[in-house]
Amino acid sequence: PPPAEKFEYQAEVSRLMDLIVNSLYSNKEVFLRELISNASDALDKLRYLSVTDSEISKDCANLDIRIYADKENGVITLTDSGIGMTRQELVDCLGTIAQSGTAKFMKALKDSKDAGGDNNLIGQFGVGFYSAFLVADRVIVSTKSPKSDKQYVWEGEANSSSFTIQEETDPQTLIPRGTRITLHLKEDAKNFADPERIQKLVKNYSQFVSFPIYTWQEKGYTKEVEVEDDPTETKKDDQDDQTEKKKKTKKVVERYWDWELTNETQPIWLRNPKEVTTEEYNEFYRKAFNEYLDPLASSHFTTEGEVEFRSILYVPPVSPMGKDDLVNQKTKNIRLYVKRVFISDDFDGELFPRYLSFIKGVVDSHDLPLNVSREILQESRIVRIMKKRLVRKAFDMILGISLSENREDYEKFWENFGKHLKLGCIEDRENHKRIAPLLRFFSSQSENDMISLDEYVENMKPEQKAIYYIASDSITSAKNAPFLEKILEKGLEVLYLVEPIDEVAIQSLKAYKEKDFVDISKEDLDLGDKNEEKEAAVKKEFAQTCDWIKKRLGDKVANVQISNRLSSSPCVLVSGKFGWSANMERLMKAQST
Ligand code: ADP
Ligand code: MG
Repeated sequence: PPPAEKFEYQAEVSRLMDLIVNSLYSNKEVFLRELISNASDALDKLRYLSVTDSEISKDCANLDIRIYADKENGVITLTDSGIGMTRQELVDCLGTIAQSGTAKFMKALKDSKDAGGDNNLIGQFGVGFYSAFLVADRVIVSTKSPKSDKQYVWEGEANSSSFTIQEETDPQTLIPRGTRITLHLKEDAKNFADPERIQKLVKNYSQFVSFPIYTWQEKGYTKEVEVEDDPTETKKDDQDDQTEKKKKTKKVVERYWDWELTNETQPIWLRNPKEVTTEEYNEFYRKAFNEYLDPLASSHFTTEGEVEFRSILYVPPVSPMGKDDLVNQKTKNIRLYVKRVFISDDFDGELFPRYLSFIKGVVDSHDLPLNVSREILQESRIVRIMKKRLVRKAFDMILGISLSENREDYEKFWENFGKHLKLGCIEDRENHKRIAPLLRFFSSQSENDMISLDEYVENMKPEQKAIYYIASDSITSAKNAPFLEKILEKGLEVLYLVEPIDEVAIQSLKAYKEKDFVDISKEDLDLGDKNEEKEAAVKKEFAQTCDWIKKRLGDKVANVQISNRLSSSPCVLVSGKFGWSANMERLMKAQST
């Protein structure tokens, strides 16, 4: 056989391995979760390929994971019949870091170190394959990809900066397809090679793996065996003919070893929502999306009729890219299944509009073909209907948060995703009715707590016809705007639009509950208190003054007019009715530089 070839780990891998070993030493058991999760991914990939590749689908019957614990020798073997790896994939996957999960881990580790460190928090992250070295000092990965006709063995040792790869030659370890990982446990981790312990860990960590996981277990059954008659006893029961004729038996326990199904493979979304607890939903969220914080809300539903699908949607507690990131189109937030087969999590607007791309969840369709392609997704009528329903459910879920007793939840939501909803005002006319009640703004009567448009409308004066707003770059400058004087004097409330996107969002809405939005900085502001005669007289009186000012300012202004909108300031610069507001001008200027 060709000799083993030696490779060096990418420098980051060595660093990561140090980090894992040093930060997770008290939480070693996560290695099993990581290896099972990789096996499950590998099975998902194979099942997906088998849909279109008849060669592969031929022997696709046994998609499972088997874990064998050898107590005597301190060895654990984990085998999956998944996609396996080619020689090159071994080099790339188990020698470098390219995975987002790992990057997330590194960041969380840093954050939690800065905050004093919390090993439990880190334990919830996907730290990946290298966590095998938490418990093993020697790891052997023997793997066969359907793309290759050879099986290869990767071998690495703890505290080493290199690994080897060679062709598998031992006929006993040849597998038709998939990956077998053998862990030679460290002295202080040998007790993991205990079938009962493995069983417990699998139950604990792998509730949501949708492939069967078998563990090698000792079993027993009781059987009745015939026993010799005891002569003394028969004497005692002499008169009792019945017993004498019956043969005497004894119960004994027969012991043997066999594979035992250890997990529940029913996906959580197929279960009855009434029987799933919040904690189970949260746990599924954390595991499916590699998160460590619980979601703000979840929604589990089934739709039937025109299209049939099941779904669980979640509102995350924080925006992954930070709250200033709006257009994080490329997410892996929605996992699409077709009849339980994982299809894809790579979407760009097909199932949720871009502005709702922060919603996470699973969608399991009954109607789509298994070999659904991106083109089909984009064209499909079924997908369009699904999208509509999903969006509606997402809004219901968000509305639910806004109506909850706990005000903080919605504040949190708004802080993270408020901008997304405002983008929705601009991009999704069809859903204005659903978005508008969710919006929040500061106002002249509520500078510290944001109010909803409903609260504004309830607070309107009986004769008030419009919803007034002023767009500015801060509450302070909004408050000091001269336009405000007269309005505030009349006791009218004014919304302060202080974020760049606010003004366009409000202008897209145009009205709420039949009340128009009115920009108080525009020239034709009508507060319903016109005294035409008096105005005409004043206009006449100051016509010459206006002309004179206009001449002096020339092209700098479009017009100079008498106005009734000020109370103590002598003059104000306003925007033309059809022009940009000052705020918009500032934004456009900022964008063009
Ligand atoms: P992640 O699972 O986040 O991608 P890991 O460190 O857990 O990161 O795994 C690295 C890569 O190694 C995987 O992306 C996959 O390509 C490959 N891999 C690991 N285990 C298996 C396996 N059992 N079968 C096939 N490929 C695997
Ligand atoms: Mg992994």
